[in-house]
Amino acid sequence: MNEIVKTETVVLSKLNYGDTSKIVSLYTKDYGKLSAIIKGGRNSKSKIGLILDVINHIQIVMYKKDTREIQIISDASLISPFSNIKEDLEKIKYAQAIIELLQKLTVEHEVNHRLFKGVTRILYLLNTSNELPIILFGRFFIFFLAELGYAIQLHKCSVCGRTNLENIELSYNLELGILCNDCKHNHLESYVISPELFNYLNCLTSNKKIELTNVAAAEKSILFMEKYLMFHIPDFKGIQSLKMMK
Ligand SMILES: [Zn+2]
Repeated sequence: MNEIVKTETVVLSKLNYGDTSKIVSLYTKDYGKLSAIIKGGRNSKSKIGLILDVINHIQIVMYKKDTREIQIISDASLISPFSNIKEDLEKIKYAQAIIELLQKLTVEHEVNHRLFKGVTRILYLLNTSNELPIILFGRFFIFFLAELGYAIQLHKCSVCGRTNLENIELSYNLELGILCNDCKHNHLESYVISPELFNYLNCLTSNKKIELTNVAAAEKSILFMEKYLMFHIPDFKGIQSLKMMK
């Protein structure tokens, strides 16, 4: 049965299809990730074709049929084009990284309202807030890991259970978790977590304000989260959007 539905979406990618149409990949609020076609979308006068651009936050109306792989978009209206993001290379880079994570790691048709809200919130912040894009992206990344079911556990040593971990040299063993300075020596294949990086990761998790004196901590935190994700999802080969523009 064909159903006419309305939902919000963020556009993940688009490509030309045939002589006249476009196919888009969308992360929608109420139906998760899906593919849809805009018939006549390549025509420069197609309003829907113009609005459905990558990163944009949009309200769409579509003919939806569960047995069909590609849904049909019948109308669209723009909620936000995130103009400030598109004028700033650094912001574009991190917005693309968010899009890439959704594209590669969410499951088709899996609905997650909290994740959708988190995605639109971070894009609005990237668009308007003065906080550095790399920090905003870190906040999203650590939240995204938790939504995927791989929350990074930082509150106690995974071997002895010690909870006061501030201001000591720690390490993170990808299989076991965080290790205190006493336990880390028994596990050589671990990722070094300096007190500064530990503090930074905690600020990202708890959404605390960050006075960044050293961008290196922010960069390290992203590398760490990438490694952590590659360990849990072997098919994931890192965030290409961040590599291309370095
Ligand atoms: Zn310990």
